[in-house]
Amino acid sequence: MIEQIEGINIAVEGCFHGNFDEIFGTIREIEKQKKIKIDLLLVCGDVQTHRNKHDMFNMACPIKYLSMGTFYKYYQGKEAAPCLTIFIGGNHEASNYLREMYFGGWVAPNIYYLGDSNIIQIKKGNTTFKLGGTSGIFKIFDFNNPKLESFPFKSEQLRSVYHTKQVDLFKLSLYEGEVNMFLSHDWPQQIHQHGSTKELLKKKQNFEADIKSGRLGSQPHKFTLERLQPDFWFAAHMHVKFEALVKHKSGKQTKFLALDKCIAGRDFLQVFTYTKDKQDLYEQFAYNDEPIELFYDSEWLSIVHTTYKLLTIWDKIPKLFEYNPALKELQIMKKDKYQEFLNEKHQRMKIFGNHKIKIPNNFEITSPPYDEQDNTIKSLVPPNRVPLNNQMKSYLNLFNESGQELNGLIFYEPDQPRIIGEFVTPDFLQKQIELENQKEILQQKDLQQQEQQEEPSSPKDDELNIQDFPFLQ
Ligand code: 5GP
Ligand code: MN
Repeated sequence: MIEQIEGINIAVEGCFHGNFDEIFGTIREIEKQKKIKIDLLLVCGDVQTHRNKHDMFNMACPIKYLSMGTFYKYYQGKEAAPCLTIFIGGNHEASNYLREMYFGGWVAPNIYYLGDSNIIQIKKGNTTFKLGGTSGIFKIFDFNNPKLESFPFKSEQLRSVYHTKQVDLFKLSLYEGEVNMFLSHDWPQQIHQHGSTKELLKKKQNFEADIKSGRLGSQPHKFTLERLQPDFWFAAHMHVKFEALVKHKSGKQTKFLALDKCIAGRDFLQVFTYTKDKQDLYEQFAYNDEPIELFYDSEWLSIVHTTYKLLTIWDKIPKLFEYNPALKELQIMKKDKYQEFLNEKHQRMKIFGNHKIKIPNNFEITSPPYDEQDNTIKSLVPPNRVPLNNQMKSYLNLFNESGQELNGLIFYEPDQPRIIGEFVTPDFLQKQIELENQKEILQQKDLQQQEQQEEPSSPKDDELNIQDFPFLQ
């Protein structure tokens, strides 16, 4: 008799690039061929969830790639995702829309954005696992900035909006529980060392310089990988399939898989079954048909509340990490401060206790969907806001927070300016931050000159090079 496998059939996709019909079509095709039901699709960024033309123009990307895509049909409910789809953001996104869902939310029925960083629980019958993820790519010059991109984005903000911010990394660093799967767009830095670098270089010769200098991938992801040590880590961005096995000092292991972008004939999709005994199977599938459900994770909720105040500080942004040049590693800022945050998290965890809070199905349309018939200029007029929408309101309600103090930082309602002691407009915030940054750059130049004298061979002139930029040292 064949043993019945209980589990979750999962498909993982690399870069999505707006190919909703194609990727969902491929999922349906696999279901037909293998006579299985895919329960969950995990997507590693560059999704391009444009509800309308206005969202399309809020994506950073070369003009030739700007296209409306088909997401708006799923947003409107004219088309439906074949299975629960969960994604993180990359560097080509409808950034205004994802900002609206900063803490994670439904961007369309059955399509869930994890947010800028998040950990949630997934359950189907007797199988459960914890899924974490973080959005965007790392550019060190934006790392220490707050979430200050006020809407409508200025041209440089169209890019900085998806650059990893320290506060989102800090939230992940406070997590002490077990994480089973993790999603990122870029790769953790130096992950190539844990797989076949030779094979990788055969496919991507142009990675050679970055590999030699140890700069391929994201430094914050390396930090998160080493701390969370998830069983699986999925990524994209490099447009090549790559596997690695990371053996941590603790004895735990992380299976890393990067996938390609969605092009016929390329390795952009991986299907596997995650069983109730936490095994990953590639030839056998689960046939149990309970519904798949999402739950908030109480430790993560405690972290979100503990770090909430960091989102509202605009004038004194504390440095949460520092770069240790000797170890070439990101490290947590002063240990005692970090401990304070941990203690507060532990207190809050007592409040949330073991309550299992289901992620509600509370998707609502918040911006008019693209209308194929409407060729008027009116369809291009940007709504001048990133609303504090119903989903974020009900999320913040879990903490008894209104979210109003995030106006001008995370969300943007032009007719409701932030008030902290005095009247503050977003433009003024921007100026303050620029002044602070300039000061730091000057200080850093001095420091770098000193370092170059000590270490003349240190690499230069590459924006991915952590040593060239001011904020981490
Ligand atoms: P995207 O689809 O995000 O516009 O582009 C990603 C492209 O940039 C891919 O072709 C990928 O190979 C390349 N890329 C991303 N990160 C790096 C990096 O750190 N070093 C090098 N050499 N190429 C990168
Ligand atoms: Mn990308």
